[in-house]
Amino acid sequence: MTGTPARLLIVGPQGSGKGTQGARIAEMFGIPAISTGDVFRANINGGTELGKRVQAIIQAGDLVPDALTGEVVRDRIGQADAAHGFLLDGYPRNLGQVADLDGFLDEGGVQLTAVIELSVPRDESIARISVRAKEQGRADDTPGAIAHRLSIYENETAPILDVYRERGIVDEIDGVGTLDEITDRIVSALEARGLVRRAAA
Ligand code: AMP
Repeated sequence: MTGTPARLLIVGPQGSGKGTQGARIAEMFGIPAISTGDVFRANINGGTELGKRVQAIIQAGDLVPDALTGEVVRDRIGQADAAHGFLLDGYPRNLGQVADLDGFLDEGGVQLTAVIELSVPRDESIARISVRAKEQGRADDTPGAIAHRLSIYENETAPILDVYRERGIVDEIDGVGTLDEITDRIVSALEARGLVRRAAA
């Protein structure tokens, strides 16, 4: 294994395609994709204690408390498969979580390599979410919860990008195009940072 370790974030509004692109990128760089939303949904579906605690919050489109979300992330990035890199999708989502994540990474003596910002115009992301709502029937894809989540993104999540921008690690990627075009843009940006794709099996 050579090159810079891939410790990545993918950030974008709902409907930006960050889940899909995050999974593709993680696969190509041989790292686990960790989606806090997926972890919560799996716990809700599995009827776990964590699932019961977060169900109503998620359905309303609110954020799960930072401490609870942080515990999930700290535990997950501490697992063996994340030792040489990971891609976080949907975390951090506010400035408090940025500080929490800095703390978790400090404990391991590691740093983020890059933050992928997927830019998609508001109209386009709303159109994509309504398609997903029909296809997947997610409990939080109701019009009220969608609008609420978009305003949380704009007010609480978008400001985290300024912090990472100051650190010089943000790659802003145009999120409009075909899936392959967008993946290619992200891969080029990461390769420019010295990240090396996993050799094809
Ligand atoms: P997502 O799949 O990323 O859209 O997340 C779905 C929902 O899970 C969000 O609307 C929040 O309720 C919750 N969630 C996911 N990630 C976080 C996070 N980092 N902080 C707080 N809540 C989160």
